[in-house]
Amino acid sequence: MEVDLVIKSKWIVPVVPREQVLTDHAIAIKDKKIFAIGPTESINTQYQCTNITSLNNHILIPGLVNAHGHAPMALLRGSADDIPLKEWLEEKIWPLEGKLVDRQFVFEGATQAIAEMIRSGTTCFADMYFFPDEVAKASLAAHIRVQLASPVLDFPTVWAQDADEYINKATQLHDDYRDSELVSTAFGPHAPYTVSDAPLQKLSVLAEELDLPIHIHLHETAQEISDAIASDGRRPLQRLQELGLLSTRLNCIHATQLQEKEIESIAEHGANILHCPESNMKLASGFCPVAKLVKQGINVGLGTDGAASNNDLDMFSEMRSAALMAKVVSEDARSVPAAIALEMATINGAKALGLESDIGSLEIGKAADITAINLDSINSQPVNNPLSHLVYCINSAQVSDVWCSGVQILDNGALTTLNLDKIMQTAETWQTKVVNQLSHNHG
Ligand SMILES: [Zn+2]
Repeated sequence: MEVDLVIKSKWIVPVVPREQVLTDHAIAIKDKKIFAIGPTESINTQYQCTNITSLNNHILIPGLVNAHGHAPMALLRGSADDIPLKEWLEEKIWPLEGKLVDRQFVFEGATQAIAEMIRSGTTCFADMYFFPDEVAKASLAAHIRVQLASPVLDFPTVWAQDADEYINKATQLHDDYRDSELVSTAFGPHAPYTVSDAPLQKLSVLAEELDLPIHIHLHETAQEISDAIASDGRRPLQRLQELGLLSTRLNCIHATQLQEKEIESIAEHGANILHCPESNMKLASGFCPVAKLVKQGINVGLGTDGAASNNDLDMFSEMRSAALMAKVVSEDARSVPAAIALEMATINGAKALGLESDIGSLEIGKAADITAINLDSINSQPVNNPLSHLVYCINSAQVSDVWCSGVQILDNGALTTLNLDKIMQTAETWQTKVVNQLSHNHG
């Protein structure tokens, strides 16, 4: 039988089943999907293929799923460090965005972010930003998978004037991409403190009708909770629950402030948590109680958040941060072992995005979204435990090859769909604009 591509690898960690490590195996790909996985010798004898990649010091994993971010903010990297969330947002980011954000900013910023994500092994990302149609264009040009969490706010921005217009644009976006292979859509009400009850209720109904996820920043800081209690007497999660949003569709981003009964309620309703440990640490927002969430069976995906609060889009360092942070917070070294951290960065993110039947693990029938990591470097020798290495010792510069839906988008470290030199030049142009704006703001 003829297949389109065979990737032979020293090791494969398919993620499902948990903790499995295959040695000297190969993956056969046909029609953009994983057609077979087996010992290299048996794949050799069973399948004919003219396109064969042999990776002798490598480990194959499912393409990483960055479940939360704001890709175009890559252009604002380093523009607002070492301040807490409220000040970061109100005094730095919103004024900068007010001056700089337009269609070109979004397309070029997203393209830069996508280049960084591909080079660090990500094949799918969820994005909440203005002009999501530009993020879609950038993603399609790069051949990477994206879920657009179309933003909804109460107040006017460059993207829309009021909640109704944001929602109309979100449903239009869903119509435009409903048959897309790589682009899916979701609703992205920014946060409980920027979206009022009526639009939230409307989104809850629409999400059900259209079968879409909802992404919302939720319980990010202690101040968010105390402000909410002061203004309407309820904690934000309770308000969302009363508005009918707490369900399997809901993706609660951050969730650093959770009481025991709230954790139970999230578990009961099957809502997801999108954990962004590095952004939470950098903004000193708090610690998501991941060990407790995992114990309750809650699905926890992983995201980098935007590069203005991380400040990179590296899911390998995010996995390591998630594993280490969980141990410190729970005071238990057993919390979030390597296999669980890897699940958060792959299958759990896929589940939160409603894409788990297509991506998130290397299984027959799923899309050929595959990342290869080269372990032939001093920091990862000897390879006593490939699964452990993925989380605890390798760095993203060791990502060598990436396929998304069967198309190779990174070939031995080189981007195949994007022009890195051009992206670097564009970044320099934006650097001038951002630095000018920052000095203007200071003056
Ligand atoms: Zn965010």
